[in-house]
Amino acid sequence: MNCRVCDSRDLELAIDLGSQPWCNHFIRLEEAGNEPFYPLRVVHCARCKTAQLDFTVKKEILFGNHTYLSGITRTLSDHFAGVAAKVDRLYMQGRMTKSVLDIGSNDGTQLKHYKNPGYSALGVAPSKTTAALANERGIETLHSFFNNDVAQSLNRKFDVINAAGVFFHLEELHSVTEGIRECLKDDGVFVVQFLYMKQIMENIAFDQIYHEHLLYYNLETIQTLLTRHGLEMFDCYLSPIHGGSIIGFVTHAGRRAPSARFENLLREEKLSGCNELGAYRRLAHDILQKKKESLDFLEAQRAEGRRVFGFGAPVKGNTLLNYFGIGPELIECLVEKNPLRKGLLSPGMHIPVELEDEIEPPDTYYVLAWNFKEEILRNNRDLIETGVFFYFPVETRINESPRHWSDRLSRPQSGSRADQQRASGDGGGFARVQPAAKK
Ligand SMILES: [Zn+2]
Repeated sequence: MNCRVCDSRDLELAIDLGSQPWCNHFIRLEEAGNEPFYPLRVVHCARCKTAQLDFTVKKEILFGNHTYLSGITRTLSDHFAGVAAKVDRLYMQGRMTKSVLDIGSNDGTQLKHYKNPGYSALGVAPSKTTAALANERGIETLHSFFNNDVAQSLNRKFDVINAAGVFFHLEELHSVTEGIRECLKDDGVFVVQFLYMKQIMENIAFDQIYHEHLLYYNLETIQTLLTRHGLEMFDCYLSPIHGGSIIGFVTHAGRRAPSARFENLLREEKLSGCNELGAYRRLAHDILQKKKESLDFLEAQRAEGRRVFGFGAPVKGNTLLNYFGIGPELIECLVEKNPLRKGLLSPGMHIPVELEDEIEPPDTYYVLAWNFKEEILRNNRDLIETGVFFYFPVETRINESPRHWSDRLSRPQSGSRADQQRASGDGGGFARVQPAAKK
């Protein structure tokens, strides 16, 4: 295999997560045991330093009919609103008419936030279900995989092009990037939102590695790709969304000077060594430690007779469940809000999915949707008061709850919680408090 970005053949194995099913495909009972497994391995390119999977599951299989809805969480919708407002304020002031193209527009949540301030909006979404949903909501959406051919056929140029969380899915990486340059006005801004590998490493958020995420970028590596297609990132900021993402602003090469915050982040990246193979090897080691922590915790819960449910059934949760080997004997069910997943089983480990408002809470929630920590803790205040414990297998530094939350939640309470104790480490975080044994 050649590097997906620079074509080099100099690729080295960095992280091996074994054989995994397509983690986006929650299965029906009759499919259980028949789901195909594929290798999930991250390799590192010695030439351009981009981390990537060395195996591609065909995109038609991955995105044909998926059940992820971006509008379903308040956090994500608020984030998209914030991005649209920033782009408009920073770069689009004084334009008479404004237009936006969203690549991988899902249910239209991002575009909705551009329509309000008067942009003409077009979405391109590969999933039939979500494209139909967006059109029903009045967001014009083309059901297609965006690439250079689609770009040519649009025959239009846009002030803003957005791609949130899709730029690492792309099998046709170069064709898509060409298409973006083709559709971007001379003074347009391409907003690329992607998981920040440096953050993934720092938080050991390894469950972001799955078959749909073919590429894992840092600023240096994404710039290499963009430059190859006559584009250039000139500004960006770090956002807590998905446990650590970069919101990058890109335009035609040579059009804008790099911002100070962009140059600072780039400098920090270099100092950290996060683009080097050694950093990936360290991550592989840290993941094994995480596995041990989680299994110890869940075994102890079982020994104490506590019922444990998974909180959320996110796609990334399946990487974690499969790699850790966590099945229904440790986690009874996964509790979700998304009605499209009701009654399905998690691929590989076959844990059933239940709807949040249709099931009595357990003693402990093992939180797979850890990136929505604040929203989850806020929405479940009452449950927490009654003693339901929320365990976060992945802790995000950038996404830490405000001080008052962690103080309040980690304070040992009277009675049944008197024997709570802090695990070793930096303490203070809610998730690090060990729950009391069931009396
Ligand atoms: Zn390369």
